[in-house]
Amino acid sequence: LDTIEECSIVGAFGGFTTIIHYVYAKPGQKLADSIKKAIYEGKATSHTDFSIHGTLFDAKNQMKEIASCFEMGVKSFKMFMAYGRRGLMTDDYYLAKTMDAIAHVGGLVLIHAENGLAIDYLEDKYRGSYKKAIYSKTRPALLEADAVFRAISIAEVMGCPIYIVHVSCKDSVDIVRRAKERGQSVYAETCPQYLCLTEREVPKKGSLAKIAPPLRKREDCEALWEGLSLGIIDVIASDHAPVSKGADDDFFEAPFGSPSLETMLTVTYQRGVNEGRVNIHTLVKAMSETPAKIFGLFPQKGILQEGSDADLVVFDPLQRNTIATSSQHSNAPYTLYEGFKCLGRAILVMQRGETIVKNAELMSTTGRACFLPTTN
Ligand SMILES: [Zn+2]
Repeated sequence: LDTIEECSIVGAFGGFTTIIHYVYAKPGQKLADSIKKAIYEGKATSHTDFSIHGTLFDAKNQMKEIASCFEMGVKSFKMFMAYGRRGLMTDDYYLAKTMDAIAHVGGLVLIHAENGLAIDYLEDKYRGSYKKAIYSKTRPALLEADAVFRAISIAEVMGCPIYIVHVSCKDSVDIVRRAKERGQSVYAETCPQYLCLTEREVPKKGSLAKIAPPLRKREDCEALWEGLSLGIIDVIASDHAPVSKGADDDFFEAPFGSPSLETMLTVTYQRGVNEGRVNIHTLVKAMSETPAKIFGLFPQKGILQEGSDADLVVFDPLQRNTIATSSQHSNAPYTLYEGFKCLGRAILVMQRGETIVKNAELMSTTGRACFLPTTN
């Protein structure tokens, strides 16, 4: 994985001036300790401003720390409905109990929505023949939509605002739309990989394309773009997870994730704006104004006006850009966008009025970053 410092460099080159990092604590460890360390590390080494999401791998025990993490400036907490066998899944009892606690402090719950136990069964069923060609069969779209519905329903009962991370399919968009129509506090995020890539990449890229939720069908990509245009999908975020693996690694053993922060703006601009799926305002809003509002960073971030931070990205819409691993700044030795042709890229990036990237060169120094509490 990239460190906080490396993520900030990767983000700056991609045209991002504020990053919200996931901070984890393994079961048995204290989340507050991990957050304290990350704030210290970020202030010392990051090139860009940052905030933190807490991750509850072990909600049953770690939920006791929600109030103290909130006091440290962390308002959003991620739980997993998947990864039962890996011991990271939160069951409905603790989803409800934790959402109750998060609602009580005025926080926001982030949900990785996939039906973990059914997926565990499908992995068993296909394990003998488990390989890249049948990966998507083990994590079908309907089992994502099922978890989205369940999470939203529990959140509504608990009165807890909910944010579904990395929505990947049309079925989930439909469920989020219905919840929004009822007036519930529900937000949805998708990622460039779900907007721009399909399951057809999996046989080609092998284990490199093992991400969860998995890449879906073309019609799912189009439904996500449409959801973005209609305001059903609120945010585009990277889910940057530059894990170390090779294309031919055993598919079952390979870790989930891929790098996606540095390429996020250029690929979504290409597929979204250049190819006529969304307008530029929608795209910018989904990566700047809306996340700033949801995570309590607005109007310091997310808008250009007097009194706000002068975080500026100059994007040249005519610069041709073919994505190659060799020109990326992540530690990951691959990108799922190898050879992807884009028109347009960030050429100048400023934070609080200081230039941090210019003409593909890093101009900033470490130790200039601010930690931004999301609890204001
Ligand atoms: Zn996740």
